[in-house]
Amino acid sequence: MHEEDAFFPHHADHVIAQKHRGPTHEGNLAWACYLCNLLKGSDLASVDIETGRIERLFNPRSDRWGEHFRLEDGRIVPLTAIGRVTEYLLQFNLPRSVQERRWLVEAGRYPASDGLQALGLADPR
Ligand SMILES: [Zn+2]
Repeated sequence: MHEEDAFFPHHADHVIAQKHRGPTHEGNLAWACYLCNLLKGSDLASVDIETGRIERLFNPRSDRWGEHFRLEDGRIVPLTAIGRVTEYLLQFNLPRSVQERRWLVEAGRYPASDGLQALGLADPR
């Protein structure tokens, strides 16, 4: 979601938290919405419900969004174990979030044009 469409300003999130010795440099920072940053906290991984295995979270700096998720009627559908643990931990599909995404898609504002490259999609505009 583009920061202009968010109620609270985005935060610079440490992908690997400082408490786990994650450095403060561009390669370890992600511009995250308030809710994602809050829900991720210092977590690095979670337990995948399908396999019972510990899986690391999606890393927006080194993973491709389209390999782990797809957008479906406002829902962010996980495609991999990494996608599943990230979707669960960051609660991507709360009813309010899904509805908000649907409205933004309808308004042509989601995914944000600067996020399309991250999704591996061309900007249609
Ligand atoms: Zn977010």
